[in-house]
Amino acid sequence: MRPQELFTYFADIEGLPGIGKRTRDLFERLAGPRYRDILFHQPIGLIDRRYRPQIADAVPGSIVTLEVSVVAHQIPHSKRMPYKVVVQDDSSLLTLVFFHARSDYLQKQLPEGEVRIISGKLERFQDQPQITHPDYIVKPDALDELPLLEPIYPMTTGLSPKALRKAVAAAIKAVPELPNWHDESLIEKHQWPSFKVALIASHNPEQAEALEASDPARTRLAYDEIMANQLALALVRDRARRKQGRETVGDGRHITAIRDALPYSLTGDQENTITEILSDMANPAAMLRLVQGDVGSGKTIVALIAMLTAVESGAQAAILAPTEILARQHLASIKPLCDAIGVRVEILTGRNKGKARDAILADLKAGEIDMLVGTHAVIQPDVDFKDLGLAVIDEQHRFGVQQRLALTKKAGHSVDLLAMTATPIPRTLTLTAYGDMDVSRIQEKPPGRQPIDTAVISLDRMAQVVERIGGKLAEGARVYWVCPLVEESEQSDLAAAEDRFAHLKQKFGPQVGLVHGRMKALEKDAVMAQFKAGEISLLVATTVIEVGVDVPEATIMVIEHAERFGLAQLHQLRGRVGRGTARSNCLLLRSETIGQVASDRLRIMRESDDGFLIAEEDLRLRGAGEVLGTRQSGLPDLKLANLYDHAELFATARDDARLVIARDPQLSSERGKALRILLYLFERDEGVRLLQSG
Ligand code: ADP
Ligand code: MG
Repeated sequence: MRPQELFTYFADIEGLPGIGKRTRDLFERLAGPRYRDILFHQPIGLIDRRYRPQIADAVPGSIVTLEVSVVAHQIPHSKRMPYKVVVQDDSSLLTLVFFHARSDYLQKQLPEGEVRIISGKLERFQDQPQITHPDYIVKPDALDELPLLEPIYPMTTGLSPKALRKAVAAAIKAVPELPNWHDESLIEKHQWPSFKVALIASHNPEQAEALEASDPARTRLAYDEIMANQLALALVRDRARRKQGRETVGDGRHITAIRDALPYSLTGDQENTITEILSDMANPAAMLRLVQGDVGSGKTIVALIAMLTAVESGAQAAILAPTEILARQHLASIKPLCDAIGVRVEILTGRNKGKARDAILADLKAGEIDMLVGTHAVIQPDVDFKDLGLAVIDEQHRFGVQQRLALTKKAGHSVDLLAMTATPIPRTLTLTAYGDMDVSRIQEKPPGRQPIDTAVISLDRMAQVVERIGGKLAEGARVYWVCPLVEESEQSDLAAAEDRFAHLKQKFGPQVGLVHGRMKALEKDAVMAQFKAGEISLLVATTVIEVGVDVPEATIMVIEHAERFGLAQLHQLRGRVGRGTARSNCLLLRSETIGQVASDRLRIMRESDDGFLIAEEDLRLRGAGEVLGTRQSGLPDLKLANLYDHAELFATARDDARLVIARDPQLSSERGKALRILLYLFERDEGVRLLQSG
């Protein structure tokens, strides 16, 4: 049950002043459907219209607000010429300039002889003061329609800033102040305003500094959000650790057999990670460990050894992958090894239906299946294990805390949880996403890997690129060709990929294949299998191949419109090549007109192959104002906090949260109750649900 205090915060925005039936959807798309969302939609700029000089004194280039009388309209002779209106105050004449103007409209706005207040950027043209397209023209008695301090919000087409400001103002008025959920001394130390006062201040900046991340109101709101995030994680951690534990220790027979069968020896980082995992498993408290390792760093074998340890101890193990392709791939790499040592592995995905599915569920429940590989299908309520000891979540960032919980609930006792991610996250940020976990890092790559040569090439040179690829194909190369992500719709994404596919197929014939997210899982697998087998040598794809697909023979990666991808995603994509012993190439095709941040991203890709360094750079660029690939990186979608500027708050919040939970595990004290409201406010109520389930 959502606390009473938040009722208005979660009310639907329809009916808020400024929001009409027609514009509601636009508001929803821009910020979200509730008051809270509109309030969390924060200004990014400020126009200060308080400068009210005489025309003659006005500093050119500044935003001015002037009281003027209209002298004359100068209607242009030709449509291509601007329409001019001459106005004046006591000090000087001023020309207002309008392009493509409608005369009747301007006559009505600026009747000759009348007084108007206008606001806009004043410039000097041929030494005469002028304002081109004033932002505001209002009657003297309607001055309140002209905001002297105008916050600038991120907008969407079809909405007017005025309507948004109106809605924000109305929402602020409607919502109540909330009880204080922070430690009093912290508030005092930072001189933070209360929650609602901070909200009001954040929407009513009075000078440019108020928009900076370091502004007390903004910092407070950021800390609210971060605290909600860390508190939820602390609750998960606390509850997981509280459960009746088990000590999982294997006798080593399977692990020894697997190690002997491997054609390579493990890297130092792999060995260290295994040691950390096995020691967590042997400990009676439940394991909550995250393994971060770049693409190709060899996480699968580490997971397998952990799972075999669980099996050796008499329990079952499961590994969850975010996609069918990945699950199948895990099965393909794990099953032969397990078959050889008499460990039974099965797969369970959305594709298992009817009798086949029932049979797997029965065997799972009877304990006849040792190891289960699967997708989300594994966390369906009717899937029961006999004795699940270890759950592995691959590509953790694709799963939420929610699913993590669902998986561990599969067992009555505590389940050891091992999460793996190929998205390196800067150390400071590991906290935001995984504050509840212990972290191991695999930074060392398996020996013998060749670096990937990365080049950035203009799309104008497409013809040459295609020629070059043709040459490589003739030499027997295996090539990925990734098509751009088009923001507007999945449909156009697909259209782009299909066009490219048609074009390349016409050129290179049946060796060209296509795989995309709209295909049925079976079709997708079939194409992937053909690529793996070499029946297809040029695979055109949308980003479905992003994660985990393993075809060591592939040595060329072409990414079209690379500027449209985030750094983390580019790195993931590039990681599909360079997995074998042959030297690989990555061609980043860029359009001519791209911004500074996009071009910095491509430069970083060209210069570095180190996932952790790329992650740090990604963060720095995001800090520069562009939010990229949050979805891919596994970081929570933060609305008020900025991962870069507020980085140091995360550690404070984590300590704060853990302390609160240690002292008041049920959140039943006064502060605890206020913190529950905080959890709901930021929709971290999975944490609250944990409180209820005890
Ligand atoms: P990821 O960490 O991206 O999941 P994988 O586990 O898929 O990486 O491993 C990538 C490839 O590297 C696999 O083909 C695997 O067999 C191989 N590999 C793993 N560890 C080593 C190692 N220590 N030496 C050589 N090859 C390894
Ligand atoms: Mg993997």
